[in-house]
Amino acid sequence: MIPREARLHQPGTQTPRGTVGHMDDERPDLAELEPAELESVVAALGADRFHARQIFRWLHRRGREQFDGMTDLSRHLRARLDETCTITTPVVTSRERSSDGTQKFLFTLGDGRNIESVFIPDTPALTLCVSTQVGCAMRCGFCLTGQMGLARHLTAGEIAGQVRVLARELELQDTRFNIVLMGMGEPLHNYDATMKALRILAAPDGLALTPKRVTLSTVGLLPAMARLSEETWIPNLAVSLHATTDRVRHELIPTSRQQRLSDLITACRRFPLKHRDRITFEYVLLDGVNDTAADARRLARLLRGLRAKVNLLPLNEAPGIPFSRPSDEQVDRFASSLARSGVNVSVRKSRGRDIRAACGQLIVDSGPRAGSAPRVRSAQER
Ligand code: SAH
Repeated sequence: MIPREARLHQPGTQTPRGTVGHMDDERPDLAELEPAELESVVAALGADRFHARQIFRWLHRRGREQFDGMTDLSRHLRARLDETCTITTPVVTSRERSSDGTQKFLFTLGDGRNIESVFIPDTPALTLCVSTQVGCAMRCGFCLTGQMGLARHLTAGEIAGQVRVLARELELQDTRFNIVLMGMGEPLHNYDATMKALRILAAPDGLALTPKRVTLSTVGLLPAMARLSEETWIPNLAVSLHATTDRVRHELIPTSRQQRLSDLITACRRFPLKHRDRITFEYVLLDGVNDTAADARRLARLLRGLRAKVNLLPLNEAPGIPFSRPSDEQVDRFASSLARSGVNVSVRKSRGRDIRAACGQLIVDSGPRAGSAPRVRSAQER
């Protein structure tokens, strides 16, 4: 028998129940739970609440997914957990290594869909680039993931699960590393699951990630940005700007057509920043489209007075992407012009291009499509 309270503990994310793992399984999936929720499940089993901390530690800090291996729990409790609960974990189904050390992982989820995550071992920082959706609804014209459309949101357990599995596979559990939500998907379009995953990753008994180590990259969904600014745990924010006029931005990001650049910049000005923090503005450089001297001047003007840094992303080209990468000289000219105007600017080194692990190159066969993708507008209206 499953205790009633435990049965009520289904993952509280936007993803419909039953899409992950055990399709008809009514048992609570412990991978989806924050510490307090896990405590309730443990209490409902009639066990002492402090066992929840032990389980959370085994699962998230040590990456142990079998109750059997949780050796500081009594045999009786392990058996009860095994009967009444599950732990769903994304499975690594392929791992590719780039000549520059970057590694790309293909994960298969409980429903057979696939996502990708990337490990970027730049010294001194180690970075995991994690997905928040299967595919993406934003349809940016230069991004391969955008061409997939959105198959579905990931659950909190699937988002945090990528980190849990990679930390174990790469033996990072006792090492500091950063997380960037820059894999497949738009994190703010899957707000609840993304924030819940971050709470799981931040929990002191888990990987204890601090906000400074996490960067959330968004195409700029305004209501969700406003919501994010009210959170107590706020990651670094990166905003995908990509253009200096509404016309070009609407062309490059068709789902942003309801939005004006000036409103996005105003929202950024309002976004709460801790001492010395800055908002990162990502700017993909497309030859002849948004890389002119006038663009550089307009960009500097747009960001005036903002605590900002600009990260230039020379396009990672791919078949089917109808843009080209500007020459290195052109990238330098653009960067220098910004720097001369007092903008803090860097050029993102492209990592893992030979294994298609670089920005905008993540694309997988997402399995059966879940209807047509929603437009950003509906996401913004949520
Ligand atoms: N949905 C989020 C995360 C996207 S991935 C967002 O829009 O911010 C992280 C960055 O890579 C984004 O700025 C995205 O626009 C950029 N990107 C996408 N395709 C790219 C490509 N082909 N070359 C370079 N950067 C790309």
